[in-house]
Amino acid sequence: MSDTIVAPVRPAFANFVGGEWAPSTTGRTYEKRNPARPSEVVGEFPASGAEDVERAVAAALGAFPAWSRTPAAGRAAVLLRTAEAIDARVEEIAQDMTREMGKPLREARLEAARAAAILRFAAGEAWRPVGELYQQSATGAPVYTVRRALGVVALITPWNFPAAIPIWKLAPALVYGNTVVIKLAQEAPLTGLHLAECFEQAGLPGGVLNVVIGRGSEVGTPLVRHPDVRAISFTGSVPVGHEVRDEATRLGKRVQLELGGHNPLIVMADAKLERAVEAAYAGAFWSAGQKCTATRRIYVEDAVYEDFRARFLDRIERGKVGDPADPETEVGPIVNERQLDEITEAIEQSRREGATLLAGGERLDEEAYLLAPTVFEGVADDALLSCEEVFGPVTSLYRFSTLDEALERANAVRFGLSASIFTTSLETTQRFVNELEAGLLHVNSQTAGADIHVPFGGIKSSGFGPHEQGRAAIEFYTELVTVYQDGP
Ligand code: NAP
Ligand code: MG
Repeated sequence: MSDTIVAPVRPAFANFVGGEWAPSTTGRTYEKRNPARPSEVVGEFPASGAEDVERAVAAALGAFPAWSRTPAAGRAAVLLRTAEAIDARVEEIAQDMTREMGKPLREARLEAARAAAILRFAAGEAWRPVGELYQQSATGAPVYTVRRALGVVALITPWNFPAAIPIWKLAPALVYGNTVVIKLAQEAPLTGLHLAECFEQAGLPGGVLNVVIGRGSEVGTPLVRHPDVRAISFTGSVPVGHEVRDEATRLGKRVQLELGGHNPLIVMADAKLERAVEAAYAGAFWSAGQKCTATRRIYVEDAVYEDFRARFLDRIERGKVGDPADPETEVGPIVNERQLDEITEAIEQSRREGATLLAGGERLDEEAYLLAPTVFEGVADDALLSCEEVFGPVTSLYRFSTLDEALERANAVRFGLSASIFTTSLETTQRFVNELEAGLLHVNSQTAGADIHVPFGGIKSSGFGPHEQGRAAIEFYTELVTVYQDGP
């Protein structure tokens, strides 16, 4: 990995506004580097500002009347053609995703393909009901509900799922007739630009989708505050999300947040242990733990604790950590040096506090931002690692003796995104399903992973507003109107 690799020369990349590719009006750009080889520049991207937001919102506002009046089936046809365009370049998208943010290629390929599947599901909305018909109580004349597009919707997305998250917001926003300005994460703009090109190829009218790249403070803030933006869908960290929510609600806008998690996995003594070990490994370490749904805490029942620990450590020994471009690699790099430093600091702090390091804890390469899969035990329930999201390949083992205790400790965080249990008992399953405080529950599967046709979202501090994906998306991207229709 430390061999010098000569980076291919790539052109500067652009924003996509009003159907045109153009540099930022600021005239500024920034360099995005490959986290597996930081000497390699992936591309130069626009460092946009308020004027770019102004132009993008104006373009979206101008495109709204025609797009919202286009029959839903016509809008769906554009989504279906976009899915085809994505299919045709899945490999290219996956390779670029890996290069710009370090997701192992095997996962990047699945994510790129999933973007097309999400578009196909959303296109189906054109043929599903959008209202309910009743009779008026006094006359029997019709009274019905319709759902209308909101107008200009702003989407703000993180770097860790640079294809799936933009698409699972864009697809419903567009199929229901909204126009969009999306601010892609600075750490992973190239994947999103591929998607925009696919929409363009599919014949999406200019101005319906506008992409602006730049910093959160310089692009995100003016976008949230813009008077012509009706609604904001945000995925990212809790502090930024809460700032966005407070600003948006103060201005009377609709807002949806998908935020961090601190996801527990409970292993009961009656579990199929090998499956639990595999799920713990994948949940904690795939994508180097840089998933909102990654497994942060593993609670294991007394009777199988030592057995589980031995098998888990053995699985870590056998895991493949390294170059994310190698299709065999399971654990790749951290997205950037700042995040690597933050995770390393959390590991150091946990050691100082007296937790026992069972595996990992060290950087594996001089150049790549590679961190060894890291496991602690003996972490206090109120310690940093038990309570705060450390966004990397770090997880902790905890021992418990009763299900009551496991559920109580699993729930003792402010987050509520996802949770898993491994058990063969129906009674235990039922208690988990009724009592575990999270928006996504997994019985005998890992904490990460989401199907495209069902709702996705967290509770407690992990989310705000209606959930995303599946038919749940209609709640956020449309407004409900009730029509009393008497005859002439
Ligand atoms: P982040 O730092 O909160 O950033 C998310 C997005 O917000 C980025 O595009 C960022 O821009 C932008 N932003 C930053 N400051 C802003 C501001 N003041 N106003 C408006 N926008 C602003 O999150 P991240 O580091 O990219 O992603 C990791 C986090 O996302 C983790 O906490 C993870 O758990 C969470 N996440 C949640 C889900 C979910 O569905 N629940 C899914 C994936 C990730 P920049 O380009 O400047 O960064
Ligand atoms: Mg961040």
